[in-house]
Amino acid sequence: MRDVIDTHTHTLASGHAYSTIRENARMAAEKGLELLAITEHGPYMLGSCHEYYFQNLKVLDREAYDVPVLFGVELNVLDTKGHVDLPNATLKMMDIAIASIHVPCYRPGSKEENTEALLNVMKNPYVNIIGHPDDIRYPLDYTALVQAAKEYGVLLELNNSSLSPFSYRAHARELDTEMLTLCMQYQVPIVLGSDAHVDTDVGNHRWALALLEEIGFPEELVLNRDPKLLKPYINRWKNR
Ligand SMILES: [Zn+2]
Ligand SMILES: [Zn+2]
Repeated sequence: MRDVIDTHTHTLASGHAYSTIRENARMAAEKGLELLAITEHGPYMLGSCHEYYFQNLKVLDREAYDVPVLFGVELNVLDTKGHVDLPNATLKMMDIAIASIHVPCYRPGSKEENTEALLNVMKNPYVNIIGHPDDIRYPLDYTALVQAAKEYGVLLELNNSSLSPFSYRAHARELDTEMLTLCMQYQVPIVLGSDAHVDTDVGNHRWALALLEEIGFPEELVLNRDPKLLKPYINRWKNR
């Protein structure tokens, strides 16, 4: 499968990642990517950047080493109402926004509560992707999630880091398989993200691709094949 986009990477600004914007972009160029997204953790993640960081992204070129670059955020989901850690006025300026549940920022609830949280997040027109919905600590109703993704035009992420042998998201494989099976049933597209915290991991989707292959997931539902396919879903093009 043609795989030329990484929608989920971090740099030094996230506080627990180790490379710069240009190092990530250079790696993207070396690996032949046609689109790279840099999505720093939202302000509620310990050690990540202040809201001002996100407001100032306008100063950055949207291309480096001949690779188009999107700048955005990996928001923290905060509660069942679907609040996130940047206001819409700031999100409006982002090229791309992922929203994810993270340990320090969200108190685990029941399956119904966690699902309600993500469904409410998906109603936010500036949230483009739900990041790693495959964490056993936050059980989800995958049928509801997949149907809502279709209804609201939000992409579900297959997160490569979740599937790596070093992942701290246990059982991601089983949970992702459940989600992907429903995506096939309801014809809902997905996007692969490396969730790289170091440049050498940029564009690395090896575990995600192996799982797709194993379950016979159709290529047509994977949007990493061509930047054009992503455009209807991403703030940079969708909300401007
Ligand atoms: Zn995350
Ligand atoms: Zn991340």
